[in-house]
Amino acid sequence: MVLLDGKATSAQIKDEIAIEVQKLTAIGIKTPHLAAILVGSDGASLTYVNAKVKACAKAGFESTLVKLPEEISENDLLNEIKKLNKNPEIDGFIVQLPLPKHIDEQKVLMAVNPDKDVDGFHPTNVGKMALNLPTFLPATPFGILELLKRYEVETSGKHVVVIGRSHIVGSPMSILMAQKRTAGNATVTITHSRTKNLKEITRQADIIVAALGIPEFLTADMVKDGVSVIDVGITRIADESKKRGYRLAGDVHFESVSKKSSFITPVPGGVGPMTIAMLMKNTLQAAKNRS
Ligand code: NAD
Repeated sequence: MVLLDGKATSAQIKDEIAIEVQKLTAIGIKTPHLAAILVGSDGASLTYVNAKVKACAKAGFESTLVKLPEEISENDLLNEIKKLNKNPEIDGFIVQLPLPKHIDEQKVLMAVNPDKDVDGFHPTNVGKMALNLPTFLPATPFGILELLKRYEVETSGKHVVVIGRSHIVGSPMSILMAQKRTAGNATVTITHSRTKNLKEITRQADIIVAALGIPEFLTADMVKDGVSVIDVGITRIADESKKRGYRLAGDVHFESVSKKSSFITPVPGGVGPMTIAMLMKNTLQAAKNRS
């Protein structure tokens, strides 16, 4: 079994990005600048946003965190987005999800200028992704493709089963892996909460991408020997024995599934850090596009 080490791989990517930033600034191109909007004070969202901001600083980017109150009106949030769209200093920005219930998420994502949409969530960029045109790929699927590529996990002609059909992970993952591309050319089955006989399907998979958000859902009896497993899930589980009061669990029962796997990602230290690295890659690209 080979551990797909997202922590080490993302560190390598961030070093590569830092070197490129140095080279670009040396020839007078401005330092990439990522902004993040955080609405409210959800603990997990705050952790993710802080990790993104910290990673930017480490790679020599500029970063701005726009913290807005939970009660902000949809209109005021849309105005903040307009400001970032217009601000020439900002190359790319993200709106950390989920948003409070009184705000229409789709309306907010549609308001982001597609040229600054480094999360790749705007319909223009989703459309380009679906057509395999150059665009900002959503960071989590992009990170998974990069991890598969760097570990030379064969995907061509393989049967990939994606569990989950969210707009940010499952759905783009299934589109990308079926495309003619590196870490693509796979035969993809996308499954979800209405799928019948899931176990019969996952047992046929050469590669499984688990992105459903149910801790330790995928168990050893659901996979065949030699499978490669990408665990996207991150759920906080209350754990008094931990200083912070919780532990992180993936969607895969790592202990049993890893024994049957060729390749597998851990949680934490797998897909999560790759997501941040790819967001930075997109921001660097946005800065280059604007120079
Ligand atoms: P989501 O809640 O939007 O979607 C979950 C999907 O799982 C749905 O499409 C649903 O149909 C499917 N599903 C639910 N129950 C199922 C079942 N019993 N069998 C089969 N399918 C089922 O979730 P999401 O935003 O895609 O996130 C999924 C998980 O990935 C979460 O734990 C989230 O925290 C994590 N996540 C991690 C990263 C990262 O960087 N590592 C990024 C995004 C999301």
